[in-house]
Amino acid sequence: MNLSEQLSKTAELHPDKEAYIFQDDRVSYRSFDASVTKFASRLTELGYGKGDHLALVSGNSPLFMIGLYGALRAGLTVIPINPTYTADEMSYILKNGDVKVVITMDVLLEKFEHMDEQLEVYHYFVAETGVGIDLSKSPLSLKLKPFTEAVEEGSLTYDRPSLDGEEVAVILYTSGTTGKPKGAMLTHNNLYSNAVDVADYLRFNSEDRVIATLPMFHVFCLTVALNAPLMSGGTVLVVPKFSPQDVFAIAEKYKATVFAGVPTMYNYLLQTGKEQTDTFNNMRICVSGGSSMPVALLNSFEEQFNVRVSEGYGLSEASPVTAFNPLDRPRKAGSIGTNISNVENKVVDELGEEVPTGEVGELIVKGPNVMKGYYKLPEETAVTIRDSWLYTGDMARMDEEGYFYIVDRKKDMILVGGYNVYPREVEEVLYNHPDVTEVAVVGAPDPELGETVISFVVSNNPTLTEAELMEYCREHLAKYKLPSRVEFMRELPKNTTGKILRKNLREQLAQS
Ligand code: AMP
Repeated sequence: MNLSEQLSKTAELHPDKEAYIFQDDRVSYRSFDASVTKFASRLTELGYGKGDHLALVSGNSPLFMIGLYGALRAGLTVIPINPTYTADEMSYILKNGDVKVVITMDVLLEKFEHMDEQLEVYHYFVAETGVGIDLSKSPLSLKLKPFTEAVEEGSLTYDRPSLDGEEVAVILYTSGTTGKPKGAMLTHNNLYSNAVDVADYLRFNSEDRVIATLPMFHVFCLTVALNAPLMSGGTVLVVPKFSPQDVFAIAEKYKATVFAGVPTMYNYLLQTGKEQTDTFNNMRICVSGGSSMPVALLNSFEEQFNVRVSEGYGLSEASPVTAFNPLDRPRKAGSIGTNISNVENKVVDELGEEVPTGEVGELIVKGPNVMKGYYKLPEETAVTIRDSWLYTGDMARMDEEGYFYIVDRKKDMILVGGYNVYPREVEEVLYNHPDVTEVAVVGAPDPELGETVISFVVSNNPTLTEAELMEYCREHLAKYKLPSRVEFMRELPKNTTGKILRKNLREQLAQS
């Protein structure tokens, strides 16, 4: 079984059920599955199939969903790319990923016009967004095809290629610690098994209506808000771009039952939703992942909206989910939960030996969701996957009930005069301060101590001072963990998924 076959099976079971709703357009499973088959048949007619790479460069939309499932059905490998990337970032991935076909939107065409000469792309399928861009005037016009036309021209009676579960279905380019992004190769089996495990663990069913506002090009959205609900016959509520107002409006209008977001989204919803306390009345579960959920934020959110927040953990290389707070046992604030079915998490020391319960070490994971490797990077793959265990680069500990806690990224650890300081611990303390809305802690070089702790704070109180926050920290933290400085910011730098970019803050310090 794979995602594409599963979609057809779901369409047989629930033909008239809404697969997704986009801008009030309700599309049934029958219709969605038919579009997927037609697009797959067009790709096959054009000669594309196994071994060919297709880049999907789009915001959240039906184009993304039909393009993804259609390409998978035709046996191609899909490379989703963040549409906000610059032409340089994009062309690196298109070249390194050996892309031959691109699905994108007319508003992004200009970027491709600039880089096309350096690429080996033969076809561009383009969504027309209604802003009046004339595709026939583009220098690439001979290679362009409106996406909707391609789907319309496709055939419903089409011999699908049989898909081998070990073939690469998706390559996700992740920005590693250093150097250029690396392409994590996820097979059909990887993606399918993780979606099954997530659907099972979160009890997705055909009554679910799941808000997809995380970017679909990110694996968190792909598995948790697309693949898992779609295999359960649920409805995906497509939100093109995150805004608290849109999430509230859609949750209310369509009685959403599941929301998936990163902590910064929860923070925005909390800050702007003081009057919206009934909006999430139908919400069965809110899922958090992508970065650590501050305990103070989790508690305030649950209280304000009267809904349970379940934190999980994952990474692109694991398709992505490895742990979640279980629904049938207490959720533990600050924890990423327990192993999901079929996946093992383990905390090990530098030698790869499991550490005793409660002790901190590197989190490693094993299961059918672990990637095949990095595309064209066998050496990097051998360092990251050893003896079938994926080394995550995240430091964690496990309690006696098998719940895991992410301490922080290994590379974010700050070494102050020989002591280890994990930014998360300092951030958790500051998040508890009533005037602090967002915080990020990083290390800065220090001639005496090696490194020192710097905290960046966003506050809703303009009279809050550095001295007050320092005093607050002194009450809650050991001396060596205390920030040496507090910088007030209007907002913190974040990537398109909403993760706070500590890297940018470190760069900012280096330049100042
Ligand atoms: P990505 O490959 O973009 O999905 O990023 C994966 C990384 O996100 C992991 O290696 C972690 O550092 C971080 N991450 C994901 N979920 C959590 C979580 N619940 N708590 C802390 N960090 C997380």
